[in-house]
Amino acid sequence: MGIGASNGMRVLLLNPPAQERINRRFRCTYRARHFLFPPLEMLLLAGAAQRVPAVEPRLLDAVADQLTPEATLDAVRKFSPSLVVYLGGNDSLGDDVAFGRRIREQVDVPVLVTGYMPTLYPAEILEAGGADGVLLGEPERVFEDLLIQLSRQPGASLVDVVPDAGLALPGKPAPSAPPPDMDELPAPAYDLAPLSLYGDFFLPRPFAVLQTSRGCPFSCSYCVHPHGKQVRARSVENVLDDVRRLVHHQSVRTIRFEDDLFTLSPQRVRDFCQGLLERELNVSWTCLARPEGIDRELAELMARAGCVRVYVGIESGSSRVRKELQRGGGAEPPHPVVHALAAAGIEVAGFFIVGLPSESEEEFNASVNLAIELDLDYVVVSRARPYPGTDLFDRPPEEVEFKLLPFRTRFTDPVMAETSERRERAFYRRFYLRPRILKTLYRRLFREPRATAAALTELARSFVPAEGGAVREDLI
Ligand code: SF4
Repeated sequence: MGIGASNGMRVLLLNPPAQERINRRFRCTYRARHFLFPPLEMLLLAGAAQRVPAVEPRLLDAVADQLTPEATLDAVRKFSPSLVVYLGGNDSLGDDVAFGRRIREQVDVPVLVTGYMPTLYPAEILEAGGADGVLLGEPERVFEDLLIQLSRQPGASLVDVVPDAGLALPGKPAPSAPPPDMDELPAPAYDLAPLSLYGDFFLPRPFAVLQTSRGCPFSCSYCVHPHGKQVRARSVENVLDDVRRLVHHQSVRTIRFEDDLFTLSPQRVRDFCQGLLERELNVSWTCLARPEGIDRELAELMARAGCVRVYVGIESGSSRVRKELQRGGGAEPPHPVVHALAAAGIEVAGFFIVGLPSESEEEFNASVNLAIELDLDYVVVSRARPYPGTDLFDRPPEEVEFKLLPFRTRFTDPVMAETSERRERAFYRRFYLRPRILKTLYRRLFREPRATAAALTELARSFVPAEGGAVREDLI
């Protein structure tokens, strides 16, 4: 089907509808009943499209707008795009691919998909009819070039402009394109986003998400290593430009930095904080960190520069389990980093994993005790799951059950499944149902009644078994 046009191409970047509120990210998908992040991957592609003069991009976030599949199809028809691109999630992949097929069949428009699972399994997704092409890996540069080619060749179809790498078409497999120069990435097109619909717990809105680097040199066994081991960072100036635009043009008050590992280079974090202070960019921000590399001095600088919360990947209270998870930095206790952040007045949320095949009851208890001993402000508990691309997935085949469409991945041992679900709920109960946390929530109830009610509802849901064995996934 011809797409190319020199006098105006409409391109729709779609976060597909979902049965419940979810955050789809490049590498993972998780429930987000009471918080929601902007779909950064789609905003980056929209930003790439904005750089091509003949193209009019639009973002449709069916999750944020709470659209049904039918309403989403209507909205797609109404925009009458030349091309649709959607983000395929992980656990939602079956529904996402089915919806991609419906767009192709019912709106009759070429459809591309991008995301971590589509990058791993392009042939299967094309075979299932979920798209006309798969944008592989980090797609911004390839997508922009594709739009440039289409705008120069009226009537051209995807097959006429397919590059050597970065776009897989039916019967035409391709490697991923080389990683982009990070400073040449487009600015996310936040002017197209319904910013009032996004936010994170207890943080001021409007709320946005940015990425300042990709890649991580570590080898955690549960991680999908979404951007490889080589770290590629944007220059501090380049990041500060995005922050300035968000603060001055979109009135953004909180930014979440969603790098694989934001604090990998303490010097870069220092330079970034100095830049924020020198430019007087008054914005709250949060980031993801490992439990090392932040000392008291850096934590204080981060706090002065607006950092209000750090999500630290602690994972386990057992040094044996932390070693097994190949945290790379070793099994040192996370106390110094957590204490430095807390002393600087920064909230600390700890990520933990429960239900690894080898985790004993004592080791699980050590995790809960560590979270309490560290006096964390929040915990996010995830059940270990064998995702493709992780070491956990490469266990003996009889231990892992995997199906791509509809997506399903789990350890086959039913006792393990029951144990990890029980431990997840017990962790939340034992951590949150304590006087110190309840007192904080009680005080917040008067200051921020809606956010606190939402937090309490979310918490209450964490204490009871989730239907369908669904899990929270917010691993760094
Ligand atoms: S979990 Fe975090 S620290 Fe570990 S490999 Fe993945 S991105 Fe790196």
